[in-house]
Amino acid sequence: MTEPKSPCTGHLEKICLDNECSEAWEKISPAMAEHLADFIFCPFCAEELHLQCSACKEGLTNKDFKYCPWCGCEFEDGATVS
Ligand SMILES: [Zn+2]
Ligand SMILES: [Zn+2]
Repeated sequence: MTEPKSPCTGHLEKICLDNECSEAWEKISPAMAEHLADFIFCPFCAEELHLQCSACKEGLTNKDFKYCPWCGCEFEDGATVS
């Protein structure tokens, strides 16, 4: 029995692992969120940002991945706002 591969799509998410920043991140403007893909460090605490899959929330090591190595979800190109 093989599980059918679900045609799931997602995107790379960048988050700061510091809980104190999560509030600030929630208030981030859409204009700023568009540039998020280029950010390397948290603008609120200067910690290096953590890269994760938006679908399964697993950590990723490479922002050039086309598919999530954990859930097989396809990443849409760039930081498009839908
Ligand atoms: Zn932070
Ligand atoms: Zn995933």
